[in-house]
Amino acid sequence: MEISYTRYRIYRECPYKYKLIFRDGRKIPLNPKSSFGLSLHRALEAWLSGGDDSLEALFEHLRSRWLPGGYPDETAEARWYSKAERALSRFHGEEMSRRSRTIALEKEFVWPLGRHEVRGMIDRVDQGPDGAYELIDYKTGPAAPSEEQVARDGQLRFYALGAGRALGLKPALLTVDCVTAGRRVSAAYDRAGEEALAADILAAAGDIEAGRFEPKTSYCPRCDFRADCPFSAARP
Ligand code: SF4
Repeated sequence: MEISYTRYRIYRECPYKYKLIFRDGRKIPLNPKSSFGLSLHRALEAWLSGGDDSLEALFEHLRSRWLPGGYPDETAEARWYSKAERALSRFHGEEMSRRSRTIALEKEFVWPLGRHEVRGMIDRVDQGPDGAYELIDYKTGPAAPSEEQVARDGQLRFYALGAGRALGLKPALLTVDCVTAGRRVSAAYDRAGEEALAADILAAAGDIEAGRFEPKTSYCPRCDFRADCPFSAARP
């Protein structure tokens, strides 16, 4: 099977949630946070890969890629839209003074793991003046993580493993660019643990293939299906 970070993460959160989404076709409805995050990601991707680096161009990408779904009413949507403009304006100022060079955007990787394929898409890869590679992930939540949290970030570590195995690229730095919070937090990448992560991805892919979807109720309080899942331990 092909396993992405999203599939791996959701399976580890709760195997039954994985089944609901990827076997039964349940959808997680958009909410203000997810709709806002997707819109920002789409605008950034278009602006970073386009030729015009002006703020007006960035705002135009936001306008044309804005997802209106997920907001309770137009007033709430307008509030989130203003927030997106403020975040992108700040991002634009920082981007203009950055000294590193962007070498890849939305960089895809695929590598074989046992009978399976591991696939991912890295938001951005930069190369600093010293030649070191930096993997960057854009986050749109309100708070910035600590350096320790970035060093342990499951998604960035999954991508760093993929960058090495599939692209022959050895990242020195992992960075979370918190677009809304207006902060970039970086941590040195430590390759220790790569073998354990690869073994865990392999184990998860094997269990998915074998149809093992036991509920893991410790995740229920944060689950989008907690209201109607038959195994929910956190029904509102
Ligand atoms: S409500 Fe609990 S058991 Fe059901 S899918 Fe979500 S996390 Fe799993």
